[in-house]
Amino acid sequence: MPTRLYLASSNPGKLRELQALAEGSEINAELLPKFRELPAAKEDHDSFALNALEKNLYYSRFTDQLVVADDSGLVVDALDGAPGVRSARYAGPNSSDKDNNHKLLSELSSVPEEKRTARYLCVLALARRNKLVALFSDSCEGRILTEHRGRGGFGYDPLFYFPPLEKTLAEASEAEKNLHSHRGKAFRKLLSYLKNHSP
Ligand code: IMP
Repeated sequence: MPTRLYLASSNPGKLRELQALAEGSEINAELLPKFRELPAAKEDHDSFALNALEKNLYYSRFTDQLVVADDSGLVVDALDGAPGVRSARYAGPNSSDKDNNHKLLSELSSVPEEKRTARYLCVLALARRNKLVALFSDSCEGRILTEHRGRGGFGYDPLFYFPPLEKTLAEASEAEKNLHSHRGKAFRKLLSYLKNHSP
């Protein structure tokens, strides 16, 4: 009997990613029904884990099925961890990817290449009926370039150089990104957990 897993996310790319990873398994991943009609969960903690947890405890109240929510972002060493949990709104409350990338480049303008180390982090919270089942996390290590490269991905990907592929994540194919990304790796941990547990 397949396990139904609902994703609580407004990003269609994340659902595609999760469905691609779950293909051929006993897990049916779908968007949480009526997700777009629900008032958005709060995301105001200084920790990815607390944000993922709070989001998911909230969304998992709307169904009896398992729900997963994620919180992710970019952590830059030379900026003391910024943009961090504020990655989506780094340049202001309604900022676009372009605004955020522009701000990142300007904050790093005097930082030399060897000090532009950064990582994406992702925490996934798995919950059922307002109760946490498990947390999964992973990261993806790279470096922030001085100019954009590539048209794929989203967010900071055109500036995020990933040394093992010798490209930015915006130059990587979707399959390459899923294989190496913080979220791809965390999703795989979650799917492997569900293979061995029936929460
Ligand atoms: P959220 O977890 O969807 O709220 O994402 C937070 C923000 O982190 C996004 O808006 C992006 O700015 C950034 N981010 C998270 N994951 C990625 C990624 O895989 N590529 C590029 N930016 C990302």
